[in-house]
Amino acid sequence: MPNPVIQALLILQDRDLKRLGLEAHLKQVPGDVARVEQKIATEKAAIETARVEMRDLELKKKSLESDIAVASEKLGRYRTQQLSVRKNDEYQALGHEIATTQAQISELEGKELEIMYAIDEAKKKFVAAEAELKANISGHEARIKALREREASLTAELATARADVATARTPVEPLKLRVYDRIAARNMPVVVAIHAAKCGGCHLKVSSDVDSAARGKGVDAAAQLPTCDQCGRIVYWEA
Ligand SMILES: [Zn+2]
Repeated sequence: MPNPVIQALLILQDRDLKRLGLEAHLKQVPGDVARVEQKIATEKAAIETARVEMRDLELKKKSLESDIAVASEKLGRYRTQQLSVRKNDEYQALGHEIATTQAQISELEGKELEIMYAIDEAKKKFVAAEAELKANISGHEARIKALREREASLTAELATARADVATARTPVEPLKLRVYDRIAARNMPVVVAIHAAKCGGCHLKVSSDVDSAARGKGVDAAAQLPTCDQCGRIVYWEA
């Protein structure tokens, strides 16, 4: 059975480890929430991209339609003019203009068909992106809600754990608490058992002086805490 000082430190360490575990879990929550929010944002962005694509295509379609209207009007004018010309070369020149304009119109109509097809595709993408968000959003929201609940319960647990740590610190005298805190700041666990003359923290061999002190021989282990020569942790001997 370790001496009372070590026993008190072991209790403190146990509660400190619990506190640290809760703090580590709590620290992860905001990142987990942010990842879910990022997923929602990505899905919303996909909808927005499809929406913008659709709008751009609609604008292109409108502009093509107006080009076609202008060309058709021109075509009509040429045809009317052709009816009233008397000279053969003028007639032929208009015939050439008519043919060119007709070719222009059919090219524009071909483009319009392509755009209409692209609009259909963009609509499908938009509908799919919307469906994906709709299908996932309740899951995303439930996940965020669960994470928030976890955050709240961890916060409550942490408050209790901190109070428990404070209670466990009370019986330890200030000088030993300072030693404990100094080690705890860089090396958890602080208090480790020696097995076969090896430190339970760094697993390196301790000197025979430390080993004897941990066994309660020579120096008063309760007055002076034996520490590992290698890692500086407080060591105790366990039968
Ligand atoms: Zn060690």
